Amino acid sequence: MKITELIDNPQVSFDYCIKCTICNTVCPVSSVFPYFPGPKYLGPDSERYRLQNRFPVEDVSAFCMNCKRCEEICPSDVQITHFIEEDKYRQKKTIRKKLRSLFFIYIDLVGKLATSVSILTNVVLKLGMVRLVMEWFLAIEKKRRLPEYNSGTFISYFRKNYRPPERPAMTIHFFHGCNINYNQKLLGVDFLKFCHRHNIEVKIPPQKCCGIPIASAGDATAYRKRVDYHFPIFWDILRKGDIITGVSSSCIMALNTDYLRHIPLEGESKEQYHKGIIYFNDLLEKMERKGIPLKIEKKYKRLIYHVPCHVKYSTQQAKTIALLRRLTDNLVIMDEHCCGIAGSYGMKKENYSISQSVGSLLFQQISSHLREEEGILVSDCETCRMQIAENTRKKIYHPLELMENNIPE
Ligand code: SF4
Ligand code: SF4
Repeated sequence: MKITELIDNPQVSFDYCIKCTICNTVCPVSSVFPYFPGPKYLGPDSERYRLQNRFPVEDVSAFCMNCKRCEEICPSDVQITHFIEEDKYRQKKTIRKKLRSLFFIYIDLVGKLATSVSILTNVVLKLGMVRLVMEWFLAIEKKRRLPEYNSGTFISYFRKNYRPPERPAMTIHFFHGCNINYNQKLLGVDFLKFCHRHNIEVKIPPQKCCGIPIASAGDATAYRKRVDYHFPIFWDILRKGDIITGVSSSCIMALNTDYLRHIPLEGESKEQYHKGIIYFNDLLEKMERKGIPLKIEKKYKRLIYHVPCHVKYSTQQAKTIALLRRLTDNLVIMDEHCCGIAGSYGMKKENYSISQSVGSLLFQQISSHLREEEGILVSDCETCRMQIAENTRKKIYHPLELMENNIPE
């Protein structure tokens, strides 16, 4: 069954469960937190009770990190995380959780303010007292290192500096997301450099945060408003046959898959929407199909790749590996362990220790690879990179940064 068909009617997908329990074997939270009943019980099993307004498990679904490993492996395409997410939306929130949810809803406003005084913001966010206050009021774990802010936003850089090519070979619409706009402006600049080298015109549609942190905070109304904000903008682009792309694997997954549960499209139009929003790897494929030769230099001795869960779920893993093989002859692929952060999940006080326990096996694996021989760490997802850098004290890069720069080994 096609993903868009099941998403048209995710409510019935629990009936496809064949009770194989394979989803439980891959759940990173179940493996470190014995009170977490696992995806089979929280998803299809409990849905029968919920349909009768009986709620057999309370609050535990909030510990699901929405890594989607369970859905990725499910042989029956059960939309497990749909049921878990709906359960999160129903749960009562404490005042601290409501405040935290507001923080994520207004993350674009926070980002604009923080980047306008970035030197001050970056100093203040390291002060123990400030972190204590954030933990007290917002339940954001004080031990978690927060991402640093850019000086100015990516979008203001783009407006000031970008000049489109005169006769572009292709035009794309770029979803930069919050990470590039507020925290990793240089990755956005690398994207512009890449497009410039390949004679591609970049347009930037109006946009806000994709909404993953809002969904994860359990605010259904705010999340649906975010989908409603983006949908007409995106559909206007996509129905003309244009494409939207981005370098954040989780944002793109949210826009082209999670949004499908809420947008007013059917059949072929839904399929067109799903296929029109593509991750960077698919852009490379489209360029090749259009006859635009890829200029990628093999320039690294050894790369060590962490596969993000959402990259696996979006079936992008093999494509990133193919791309990295163009950059090196010596690629180490670590595909076993989740890093444990799952976006905003690992920043929350109640999830911090689960997040660190989940990630610990990956951190050990990285150390042992680096003990064997030096290499550069690489991963597609910004929060995976954050978690790995914080716990291994090693720099880690997006594949695009490796392509557009000469990173010292
Ligand atoms: S993997 Fe899918 S089919 Fe198997 S138990 Fe889990 S939900 Fe059911
Ligand atoms: S999404 Fe991840 S954490 Fe949540 S139940 Fe599935 S495997 Fe477990």
